[in-house]
Amino acid sequence: MKVFKFGGTSVGSAQRMKEVVKLILDGERKIVVLSAMSGTTNTLVSISDYLYKKNTDGASETINLLETKYNAVVEELYATAEYKQKAVEVIKEHFAFLRSLTKSNIVFTSVEEKAVLAQGELLSTNMVTLYLQETGVKAALLPALDFMKIDKNAEPEPQFIREHIAALLGENAELYITQGFICRNAYGEIDNLQRGGSDYSASLIGAAIDAEEIQIWTDIDGMHNNDPRFVQNTQPVANLHFEEAAELAYFGAKILHPTCILPAKLANIPVRLLNTMDPKANGTLISNESEKGEIKAVAAKDNITAIKIKSGRMLLAYGFMRRIFEIFESYKTPIDMITTSEVGVSLTIDNTKHLDEIIDELKKFGTVTVDEDLAIICVVGDMNYENIGFQARVVGALKNIPVRMVSYGGSNYNISFLVKAADKIKALNALSDNLFKL
Ligand code: ADP
Ligand code: ASP
Ligand code: MG
Repeated sequence: MKVFKFGGTSVGSAQRMKEVVKLILDGERKIVVLSAMSGTTNTLVSISDYLYKKNTDGASETINLLETKYNAVVEELYATAEYKQKAVEVIKEHFAFLRSLTKSNIVFTSVEEKAVLAQGELLSTNMVTLYLQETGVKAALLPALDFMKIDKNAEPEPQFIREHIAALLGENAELYITQGFICRNAYGEIDNLQRGGSDYSASLIGAAIDAEEIQIWTDIDGMHNNDPRFVQNTQPVANLHFEEAAELAYFGAKILHPTCILPAKLANIPVRLLNTMDPKANGTLISNESEKGEIKAVAAKDNITAIKIKSGRMLLAYGFMRRIFEIFESYKTPIDMITTSEVGVSLTIDNTKHLDEIIDELKKFGTVTVDEDLAIICVVGDMNYENIGFQARVVGALKNIPVRMVSYGGSNYNISFLVKAADKIKALNALSDNLFKL
């Protein structure tokens, strides 16, 4: 069985939902993972914001506007009064829940917030399932809250997911529709897999059912060789190795959520990126196959902070790195890039929540300098060190841009540069000009 995932834009209107239904009705049984309609999760975030701030008028106004939008979609989506009525009932129920949180006696905490954020996926999946049923398809809704589970460290529980989804699949349906993004946590509360996490849902489900393929359907014809939001004339990449896709996703290629690669890679399930607006386009196939000697794509990650620790004590000493890394670990702050010399180490982080405390502790070990407003530019492909000449091409492309750090050799698939945020677009374009325009 295959798993198909459709993102927010792909289910962003009644028309788009109808297009999705055409795509999934190809005679094959499958699980379809849906995101919320585009814009909905952002609106739910803003409703939560009002509720945290006890601005019930702001929350109510936003809830009313969103409900009007959904009622308009219902009008357009269903042909019969019977199904319009069924859909209106579903919508009423979810908006009644949102409104119940505007009552003055409610204490709004992160528990309520997560329940609010889940409403988008609950709405879209119910609406599409009803539409399928109206058109005579035997479609069943698989409630993600009954099988998608994370533990105390917010890590998915593969065994639980596998057993519970298998039990639900017993039903004799042609199509299964389920929610991306949402799950239950270790306390049984509604939780989520982080923003953009529907891709992760799809790959966790794919791994849980030993799917033959996971298809991520979005609004572009696959992973492009550079960020189409900043570079013109980018081209789709036909094939990527899982490691290449993981580096690109982690370093800013928004088309794929970074967490989504690992479950598919471990289960060796190919992931295909496809375009709902152009279903015939080849898209990108991500698998365990790699192509020799090819530079594939470039991506950029924003909001990076670099920290340099310089110390004579590092010279010929051991244990220095461990002590530095332990500080980051104790503040649960992941490190992205690292470069070292005999007397210093530079590293980057994107989560600056505990930056002040980290700097304070690092000062015990040396002189600390911090550079903010940086971006990591990541070039991905077959970067095996025996392929001579490609480093020169990549570095040469950036000859007019100040580079704060370079990292190469950590994997066979990437070379990364740290530049000023203000130089990001220039760097991305320079790389496209030099690497892909032959
Ligand atoms: P969805 O809502 O379907 O999950 P996303 O907005 O999360 O879609 O991802 C698709 C978007 O990712 C594209 O519209 C594109 O602007 C952006 N994107 C960024 N980098 C890349 C890239 N290298 N290749 C393709 N798309 C990219
Ligand atoms: N709806 C969620 C979000 O907007 C999850 C997703 O679309 O992947 O972040
Ligand atoms: Mg996405």
